[in-house]
Amino acid sequence: MKFVAEALSISEPAVKRLYRRSILKQAYIPHPFFSDISDAYLLSKKFGSYEEGTFLAISSEKVYIARGFPKIKRTLVLGECVKRHFEKSEVAVEEKINGYNVRIMKIGKNIYAITRRGYICPYTTERARELINIEFFKDWPEFMLCCEAAGLESPHVPKEIYGKKLDFYLFDIRNSKTNEPMSLEEKIKIAEEYGFKLARVFGVWSGEKLIEESIKIIKELDREGREGIVLKDIEMKKKAVKYTTSYCNCSDLEYGFRYFNDLGRDFVLTRAVREGFQSFELDNSEDRVKRYERVGKAIVDGIIGSIEEVNKSGKLKERAKLRFKSKEVMELYIQHTKRLTRANFEYAGIEDGYHILYIEKYMASTSDRIKNLISGGFW
Ligand code: ATP
Ligand code: MG
Repeated sequence: MKFVAEALSISEPAVKRLYRRSILKQAYIPHPFFSDISDAYLLSKKFGSYEEGTFLAISSEKVYIARGFPKIKRTLVLGECVKRHFEKSEVAVEEKINGYNVRIMKIGKNIYAITRRGYICPYTTERARELINIEFFKDWPEFMLCCEAAGLESPHVPKEIYGKKLDFYLFDIRNSKTNEPMSLEEKIKIAEEYGFKLARVFGVWSGEKLIEESIKIIKELDREGREGIVLKDIEMKKKAVKYTTSYCNCSDLEYGFRYFNDLGRDFVLTRAVREGFQSFELDNSEDRVKRYERVGKAIVDGIIGSIEEVNKSGKLKERAKLRFKSKEVMELYIQHTKRLTRANFEYAGIEDGYHILYIEKYMASTSDRIKNLISGGFW
């Protein structure tokens, strides 16, 4: 733990206190797959200027830090917010990909994928070692790739719109120690040079044109069933801003009502409120009528769906398919996941040279509630 004290410029007893209070946690399970790492920790809360999810590791040679990915502010009224926040800046409109956040860096000789909370994920790391061009880190050793891991084979957000297999969509390149981002231009150049897939950049605009284009893009993404946009000034000096489509808000609503007893109430309230503000800004009377139907359908389908599932099979669960090159990594992933959440695993043998594993998360609270209600219990 000594290296953490030095890295954070605090005393060793102070580090021990952070550890006892679970602000500092171990970030990995020691294993030959993580052979470059002698020790690694994460910050589960913001500490000084270090963001939540900051990762610290030591190899036989040196200390590595991957600063936590900063929070992105959300706007509910695009036009007014863009005017006030970005003023006259040149702003890039990027697609917001709906997957999970990973920071990819090289430690020692290998690539490591770190989740938003700061854990090294064995599954994501194995995928990244297969898909990410390691040459980048030879030329830019101080930098991390901030990517959205998305696709159907996702343990967190399985979405087929991003393809069946998990893939990485680069959205920021940051100095891993300072969190300083590269400009849009540098990012695009590097993505081309090393063959990284970028989260789509629709264009760069400013002022009124920026608002107009953003609204057009949001409507298009909504029709395509995509999540939304992130606005970033091209020099990356201002805070980024996110905005989501009605499609996304409604599919979240459906999900939230499906698991109404497991997810916090805030989850559905925030999505419903987003729909209200979007209607205020964008709808004519015809659009509004369509929205009544969309929002209502999401809520009803969500609840009905879960009631019918419990009625039929007795329980509610989320299931995702994962693939592993190595069986040892698969076992490591199971061990890793069991430390963090409750899940069941089902090994399904080899397919195209990969070990296939299904992960199932059981939604106990909503299942029990529904079971009780459909057999005559009181709310
Ligand atoms: P946050 O705390 O950053 O608001 P959140 O957990 O609430 O995060 P989201 O609402 O999904 O997450 O929005 C932010 C996340 O969107 C980022 O952390 C990143 O993982 C993801 N993302 C997808 N596409 C982009 C993009 N083009 N630029 C930036 N982030 C993106
Ligand atoms: Mg997200």
